[in-house]
Amino acid sequence: MLNIPARIYNAISKPIIFNVKGNSGLYPASASIVIDGEVQGACHRQDWYRWFKYKSSESRNPEYSLSAMIGESLHTFLSNYLKDNVHTTNIVTLSVEQSLFDSNHFISGRIDLFLKDLITNKLHGCDIKSVGDYKSGMVIEQPDTSHILQCAVYLDQFNKSALLNGAQPVEDWIILYMSRDGGSYKLAKYPHSSPFKNMWQFSLTIVDDYVVITNQIGNSKEYKEITMTKIYESYNVLMEFIKTKELPPRDYAFQYSEEHIMGLFKSGKLNKTETKLVQEWIVDKAKPNELGMVKGDFQCKFCDYTTLCYSKNPKEGEKGKQALYNIEPQTLVKKETTITKFNNLL
Ligand code: SF4
Repeated sequence: MLNIPARIYNAISKPIIFNVKGNSGLYPASASIVIDGEVQGACHRQDWYRWFKYKSSESRNPEYSLSAMIGESLHTFLSNYLKDNVHTTNIVTLSVEQSLFDSNHFISGRIDLFLKDLITNKLHGCDIKSVGDYKSGMVIEQPDTSHILQCAVYLDQFNKSALLNGAQPVEDWIILYMSRDGGSYKLAKYPHSSPFKNMWQFSLTIVDDYVVITNQIGNSKEYKEITMTKIYESYNVLMEFIKTKELPPRDYAFQYSEEHIMGLFKSGKLNKTETKLVQEWIVDKAKPNELGMVKGDFQCKFCDYTTLCYSKNPKEGEKGKQALYNIEPQTLVKKETTITKFNNLL
């Protein structure tokens, strides 16, 4: 039997063709910010590992790769739909995947969509984010902080360019969410005001250096703690670690300490099950190292360098060698032999 899922799973697990990326700059997705002493957004250490081409210390999970591929196809679908339906949507796609480079902060990236609304004649940037069920529930009321930081960089870069060139400024940067699964009960329940259950958006603007997010209902929320100054300062800190080759401290934790969990408990940030566990531990005299709660930052759980980062020598990881392909010579010989035999039979 031709087992297509198994063939695809194996192909994703053991790719034979590799894309080699150089360091053209820090990514907009590497944006981070410190709010009330806590880092939000990307982890400097993770970006440092990437910059110096450390090999992932974790095994590849084909399930995540498949989700990423489905996400990419949603991007393509949406871009193509807008390009093909200008007359009915009244939206013109001015550019797709346009590159940008900021030499001051050494940021380089590509935007998803740059659009013109034919009804208002206003310009809009747009970043498409495809999300699974769990994440959908988290970004239905407000965007993910890392998405806010990334889109704030895009908008700031485009409007700085407009100012320099005397061009029309960009109205806002739209964060367009699409649910890959569509099964989250929150999507069905939450009145996000989109005619679609599985597609909704937020509009990001920058006012006096800080970010404002407006949802589809038209309600705005000021994020005075998220300023462009602080975002760019954080990029400068990361670049300093890269220049000095000094490993940045961990911005996140794979497992919170009991003190940290107590802090979350006191501020009501634990769920019901976790709260009950802490209460029982307190009743049991809160003996050190006996809480037994597995809780940490998701950034570490989905990081490519967790094992290396938590090893005794976190700088001593294996560096990736340049590889463009990995086709075993025997495989080629075997296939040639088969083809030759087949030809002989004809
Ligand atoms: S494991 Fe956590 S702290 Fe370490 S690099 Fe990854 S995200 Fe950062």
